[in-house]
Amino acid sequence: MGSVTDLSLRGVSKSFGGVDALRDVSLDVADGEFFTLVGPSGCGKTTTLRAIAGFESPDAGSVRFGDREMAGVPPEDRDVGIVFQNYALFSNMTVGENVAYGLRFRETPGGQSKAARVAELLDMVDLPGFEDRDPDELSGGQRQRVALARALAPGPDVLLLDEPMSALDARLRQELRTQVRAIQSELGITTVYVTHDQEEALAVSDRVAVMNDGRIEQVGAPEAVYRRPDTRFVAEFLGENNVFAGEVAGSADGSASRGSDGAGATVRVGDASFRLAGLDAPAGSEVVFCVRPEKLTADATAAENGFEAAVETVEFLGEAFRVHLDWGGREVTIRTPERPSADRLAVGFDPADAHVVSAGGRERAVVEER
Ligand code: ATP
Repeated sequence: MGSVTDLSLRGVSKSFGGVDALRDVSLDVADGEFFTLVGPSGCGKTTTLRAIAGFESPDAGSVRFGDREMAGVPPEDRDVGIVFQNYALFSNMTVGENVAYGLRFRETPGGQSKAARVAELLDMVDLPGFEDRDPDELSGGQRQRVALARALAPGPDVLLLDEPMSALDARLRQELRTQVRAIQSELGITTVYVTHDQEEALAVSDRVAVMNDGRIEQVGAPEAVYRRPDTRFVAEFLGENNVFAGEVAGSADGSASRGSDGAGATVRVGDASFRLAGLDAPAGSEVVFCVRPEKLTADATAAENGFEAAVETVEFLGEAFRVHLDWGGREVTIRTPERPSADRLAVGFDPADAHVVSAGGRERAVVEER
């Protein structure tokens, strides 16, 4: 117990009746890593977590903890601690008894007394001296911290968190996620976290796996998946994005065939022409690319690529304005420090800030494998 553990899934599939909940899911979580499964409702996050915990047996594929194959190992023998979305505390037990319940199948780590272990865990989740409280006297955030203490009580190898904050309000969620991350780092415990909240996923994780319809679309560090999405789905799911579809007119250095490495290619979108850096695709290919709202500028004179669009709505966000624009029937969103002063905006972007997600009908994930 409490030893270092990496975990891996290889080709895991699971269906329920006619529904394919997981389709050939493979992933590796490193020892001590905070790894997050993120995706829309029904994409298979919870099923993946349940397969790791041993509550579901995959129809195909394998789950390993270190080099140990988990098929046939029941949940109570897997050394996992789990926190669920609803507060699964027992209301007929005190806080201390709830935490001690986590030790029912196990010795306390290091041979401590149960009481000492419970006190240590309540300290860790910042609820010192709460042993005799009733769970009903606690706030939602405090209850989830007790649930975390209970999950950690036996010193599990792996911590599994299934939307543990979804019932809390926004401010509490932010506080709790910081706290959970700090405890996880301190313990160095391998953690798989499930959330549909992309901001939360980007904020706390070492790496995230973006899931869609039972599959993993992309795995990477938060900055990598945000800045370099492999698919249109990832580009649109993580944060706000502007996705444009166009056609390659030719290489940016003037030849009509292929873009050369440095100059990239010229892409036509509607009646505008943009240069996209690093794009190498033959003339006539369809290209889908995205530019984040914060990478579009309302000062088109400062940017190489530009177009003019009508201002539809303006929202004040505090640190910036979010402006919704209509560009020839396309919805475009821009974040800008100043409120627009006219009803049309000259919008611009740098070629290097456009990220191509597919070229010639092939998504980046596939294009890069060639
Ligand atoms: P959410 O964010 O809504 O919890 P999720 O990404 O965790 O979604 P899963 O709960 O893993 O998704 O479900 C994946 C798919 O499998 C869904 O279509 C769901 O309806 C289906 N499913 C999951 N568990 C079962 C079950 N026990 N019986 C039938 N269908 C199920």
